[in-house]
Parts: sequence; structure tokens; C-alpha cells
Amino acid sequence: MKRTTGQNRAITSKWKPATQAIRGGTWRSEHGETSEAIFMTSGYCYDDAQTVAARFAEEEVGMTYSRLQNPTVQMLEERIALLEGAEACRAQASGMAAMTAALLCQLKAGDHVVAAKAAFGSCRWLVDNLLPKFGIETTAIEAAKNEEWEKAIRPNTRVFFFETPANPTMDLVDLNYVCGLARSRGIVTVVDNAFATPALQRPLDFGADIVAYSATKLMDGQGRVLAGAICGSEEFIEKTLMPFQRNTGPTLSPFNAWVVLKGLETLDLRARRQSENALAVGKFMEGRVAKILHPGLPSHPQHNLAMSQMKACGPIFSFIVDGGRESAHALLNALELIDISNNIGDSRSLMTHPASTTHHGVGPEVREDMGVVEGMLRINVGLEDPDDLIADLDQALTKVGL
Ligand SMILES: *Cc1c(COP(=O)(O)O)cnc(C)c1O
Repeated sequence: MKRTTGQNRAITSKWKPATQAIRGGTWRSEHGETSEAIFMTSGYCYDDAQTVAARFAEEEVGMTYSRLQNPTVQMLEERIALLEGAEACRAQASGMAAMTAALLCQLKAGDHVVAAKAAFGSCRWLVDNLLPKFGIETTAIEAAKNEEWEKAIRPNTRVFFFETPANPTMDLVDLNYVCGLARSRGIVTVVDNAFATPALQRPLDFGADIVAYSATKLMDGQGRVLAGAICGSEEFIEKTLMPFQRNTGPTLSPFNAWVVLKGLETLDLRARRQSENALAVGKFMEGRVAKILHPGLPSHPQHNLAMSQMKACGPIFSFIVDGGRESAHALLNALELIDISNNIGDSRSLMTHPASTTHHGVGPEVREDMGVVEGMLRINVGLEDPDDLIADLDQALTKVGL
């Protein structure tokens, strides 16, 4: 392999994000291929026994097994780390593999976690079910209220865990305040940045310690593969995460890494355009539905905070229709262009009813408590022309009498 400038941090860290997203991490074989190669191999061969011994002893840098290192996966890790402004990154098999590893690698029985109550269903399941099963105490709070974080801290609090914006309530967390509070108390912040990606928000710039991703969403951006990533300091990634990852194996496939590398080339473009489209669609919907939850609109209670910590508000927003689940389902069924789908971050516009899909598993009480009401719908606004999307929503709303 040839070390290109893409692998030289001294150079790449000075590039702007759009350049990093295309060239960061690129590593070329002796063939000098233009785009990144896919190394579909589980293992590696060595010239002699001493070489492999030196690699296992960590005296020599090199590949030993694809659960631990793979050239395609390493290109992706380097690119994400650059975009995030992180010292290091490790790719994961999915977003949930990333969240699980980011929490379990650093927690032990007797520790306490404070988490945002408004969260993706599986993230909330980790907090409510998985961690307590291993003797880790958890408190779920109203994360948009700064004072709730301080109130929830106990002597054994080790981690703050949250999304901003949260899926699907679109609640924001004040990154500056919450990460600052955590730092001052020796608490590690784990931020699930799936809704924003580094193209729109970089939590490490606000003092976060760990950023964990579902790369399935905006990073892939075309709904093709599951992937995840964890970014943080070299020390955290190597000393805390790696012993966990090495031995439990939530490793990303080289093929999926290659798809996400390709997705990242257009991340900046897509994130900007989809944010613009989501704003246009949001403005239309604001006059037509009972309530809209879009941080990019002045009607959102945390609009000013959104503008201060995000470059743009991303492709996703939620809204609430009168008439509960029945109306919400009727509206989905009346769509002609926008697909009924619970995925997000895709270049296609997709809409889902969280209470009966992504948040079905947390149960009605938790849903009610986090504000996922029966009339709520969540839309991912894609790259189609927003006029076509607005026309589709208009005809669907009219058809169901909304
Ligand atoms: C989708 C999602 C996840 C889970 O990611 P997968 O790649 O589906 O495992 C975690 N957090 C948030 C906020 C998500 O939207």
C-alpha cells in the first residue's frame, strides 16, 4: 500500500470538510487505483513467522485479522475521524453496535448513566433494559432542560448519553452547557450524532468526549448498508474501546465500509441540499398540521440553540396531526410519491409513524413520557424536488381531510 496525502494527518487536518470527505483516508495499492479498493479478506499472510509475531506483539504496524484491521475499513475510519475533528475512529457493524460498544466498553456494575429520555427506540432500550441488567444504574431525563442534567448527577455518574436532535421528538441538547458540565464533573459524554453528522454539527468542538454514529443514515445517504462508528481520543479508542471491540467483534464489513466511503464523498452536498428541502417542506407543513417539530423553523422552542450549534438542521423533522394514529396512518396511506419507510438519511423522501414502528418496542408509557404521541409522523426529506414533495403532501392531506 502507498501512503497518499489522504493518509497524512498533518496535511489532511488542514483541509476543509468537503475536501476531507472526498480525499481523507484514501490509501492506494501498488496499482494506483483512483477510488478506494475493497479488500474483501478475513485474514492476512506474512513473509515470515517473525513478522506475524511482531504484529501480534504490537511491535510492528500491520494487518492481522479483519475483526481488528482491514485496509478499506481503515480508510473509512480515517475519513470519519477527520470530518469529526477526532483523534481516532473505529467503524462498527451498525449504529446500535456503535452505541452498545461505546457504553459497555467503559461502564461496569455500580456505575450510573444519565441519558436523554427522548431517544431512538433501541437507544432507549439500552438505557432502560440492557445496562440495568448488568448492574449499571440509569436515569432518563428531559434533556432539553439544562438544569435536569445537573440534578441527575450522582457520585457514581460516569456517562451522559444523548442525541441532538433526538429521534423523533426533535428535542435539542445544549452541547456547550451539557458537555461543559460533564467535563467539570469528570463525566464522559457520549453523543449519538446520527441526525446531524459532522457535515452539520461537530459535538467534539463543543467539548463532547465521544461521538457515536449510525452511518446507515446520512453518511451512507442512499439507504444501502448498515454501518456505525465511534470517534474520540486516541487514548479512548485504543485503550478503552479496542479491548472490547477486539474480543466482542462488532466489526464493519469491508464492503459496507466501501459503500459508506462512497457516500461520504457527497455528504456535504446532500446534507446541505436535504436541509434546504426539509426547510421548504417544513414551511409548507407548518400551516397545514396541528404542530410541527422542526428546529430550523422559528416556531421550534430551541430554534436559537439549533442555529448556534448546527450549520443547518438536516433532512428530518416531525409533525403531529389531529385524529391520532388513525389520521396518521391514513395520511401515510394517501402518499403517492413519498414512501412509507422507517429509515432516515436516505436520498429518497420517507415517512413513518414512530409510535407503531421505531418506538413500538419501548411501550406506550415510555412513548407518552418522551412525547411520541399517536398523531406524530416523522419525515426524512430527500433529494427530490421539494415542489414535488409538497404537492404529494398537499394531495395526501386533502384526501384525508386534514
Ligand atoms: C438509526 C439510529 C440508530 C441505530 O442505527 P442502526 O444503524 O440502525 O443500527 C441509533 N441512533 C439514532 C439516532 C438513529 O436514528
